[in-house]
Amino acid sequence: MGEFDLIQRFFTRPTPRAVLGVGDDCALLQPRPGMHLAVSTDILVSGRHFFPDVDPRTLGHKALAVNLSDLAACGATPIAFTLALSLPNADPAWLEPFSQGLLALADTHGCELIGGDTTQGPLNICITVFGEVPAGLALLRSGAKAGDDIYVSGTLGDANLALTHLLRARQGANLEASSAAAFITLPPEDLALARTRLEQPTPRVALGTALRGIATAAADISDGLLGDLGHILERSGVGATLDTARAFGCMAAHHSSEHAAAQLATEALRPAVLRHVLSGGDDYELVFTAPACQADAVQAAARASQTSVRCIGKIDAATGLRLLDRDGRWMRNDFQSFDHFA
Ligand code: ADP
Ligand code: MG
Repeated sequence: MGEFDLIQRFFTRPTPRAVLGVGDDCALLQPRPGMHLAVSTDILVSGRHFFPDVDPRTLGHKALAVNLSDLAACGATPIAFTLALSLPNADPAWLEPFSQGLLALADTHGCELIGGDTTQGPLNICITVFGEVPAGLALLRSGAKAGDDIYVSGTLGDANLALTHLLRARQGANLEASSAAAFITLPPEDLALARTRLEQPTPRVALGTALRGIATAAADISDGLLGDLGHILERSGVGATLDTARAFGCMAAHHSSEHAAAQLATEALRPAVLRHVLSGGDDYELVFTAPACQADAVQAAARASQTSVRCIGKIDAATGLRLLDRDGRWMRNDFQSFDHFA
């Protein structure tokens, strides 16, 4: 199968919304009047962002999901995306499920594949998404104000819990020797749920658009809650106090079975749970701020988008991030967020 057969067979589809889709030198988009075009790019590199032997169907889903998550964080509605693919070989047995996973999520969000590039090389997937948001209503990182409440959507920490398990299964003793922290062992059913969070994240697009005009700032959580909240604080020139007791309850594994809940509640595992929740990463939930007077509107947006949200802290005028333990005392912040070059 040649390059153009591959594009034709797996990545060419009708694009009723775009002026022009796959096949020419450029695709053409017509933003609606009064709308800003929201654009974001994310790259997924084999061995860095995913295991080379990961199920291609979930990989297709995730490659688009992480991009849609950025649109969600801006309150933008997805319109279209481009796909730049570097592939070791043109293997239909891999391309078929990959494109199915990718396009199924695209269809869920009415997001059209309008173009891309295809080359031979190490497996590596780069997607650029285009969305639209009414001018002036995009959710930015820079709008948080002292006194605002801080919310997170959905659940946190499960993706990182699953990743830790997968790494351990692959590296076994090595990792065990290098990790002093207590390790969470869950039954297979609970782990399967955490693994779905890692491999098939749900971009919070409906929540993002429902928060237009309500949230003062927002970001999606890809590198860990504390790191991504840190970006909001920095861009907004404010600080925050986080209630770690409330954050602790964010892990879905708590709710998956009685056994899991009992285990996670043990004192010895508390630091490990907090580490997964506060700095784990790969959650693709939204962290956002809103004034206290909008608390009802936030809950209405959550209901309308069928996405749970919980308040986990407050924005302060004083810069810096402060953590409270469950007794309301200051806690040392030794949680590290993910950084590719750190
Ligand atoms: P160019 O040589 O101008 O870069 P290509 O020959 O690489 O264009 O691609 C031909 C057409 O196929 C273009 O419209 C391009 O956008 C599209 N295309 C290439 N790769 C992909 C892909 N992986 N998914 C979707 N469209 C693609
Ligand atoms: Mg090209």
